[in-house]
Amino acid sequence: PEDAEAEALQHAEVAELLPRPGAESDKYRRGVVGVVAGSARYPGAAVLAVAGALRGGAGAVRYVGPAADAVLARFPETLVHAGPPHRAGRVQSWVIGPGMGDESEALEDVLAADVPVLVDADGLRFLTPERVRHRTAGTLLTPHAGEAAALLGRGREEIEAARLRSVRELAGRYGATVLLKGSTTLVADAWGPVRVNPTGTGWLATAGSGDVLSGVTGSLLAAGLSPRDAGSVGAYLHGLAARRAAGPQGAPILATEVADHLGEAWRDVV
Ligand code: AMP
Ligand code: MG
Repeated sequence: PEDAEAEALQHAEVAELLPRPGAESDKYRRGVVGVVAGSARYPGAAVLAVAGALRGGAGAVRYVGPAADAVLARFPETLVHAGPPHRAGRVQSWVIGPGMGDESEALEDVLAADVPVLVDADGLRFLTPERVRHRTAGTLLTPHAGEAAALLGRGREEIEAARLRSVRELAGRYGATVLLKGSTTLVADAWGPVRVNPTGTGWLATAGSGDVLSGVTGSLLAAGLSPRDAGSVGAYLHGLAARRAAGPQGAPILATEVADHLGEAWRDVV
């Protein structure tokens, strides 16, 4: 049966996996995450992805893209860069895609780097299995059902009707780890059990929340977690943060509030 291959992520596993700075830590050892996101049309996606990345456990966040003013206005902690990603300086992981538009050159640039890459949203539109299969470091794709359908060349309903099978098939086809978003969040490799995130809430179904997830998950990649662990721990913290933001009775939340509650989610785990 389908669910024999699925396992819920346990609180204790997450606690074990959360990166903690040691006495020898500096910001570079904690990890630098590069974020390629946003456009003139969607500057907010850049701000939300950076917000997630800053609260995800990395030591620093570099932003590359056209929304640097908006990002800096909200987060002066961010290091910004105007040129192509490969000139941005040292990074230990890349997040690319939220609100980015047609930046296929930036995608090529990032995929050529020998560090883990998370591809979300617009970044998924230019992806080919060959391009991902030839990478030397890990790749994590984070589609929602519509994006997964486009990647597999199927209808969205077909994905929704067979989420477990679809996420596994995508992982096999792209030779990547895949995090399928939605009512439940699944994290799969081509083999091994599919991880199911238990912390989600319907209040997360709000504009921009996926951009925050990309940032926090990319930050965990920079801190050294594998794509599978970063994806499942990122989804776990993101769900807890949303629950904290929505409160015990539940109430509508903003994506920025999800990012604001990531620190509390973290404290709930450790
Ligand atoms: P995106 O589709 O990129 O905007 O991301 C939406 C975020 O909200 C993802 O983290 C989804 O897993 C989450 N989400 C959307 N709908 C639901 C739902 N019905 N229940 C729980 N989480 C959801
Ligand atoms: Mg999205």
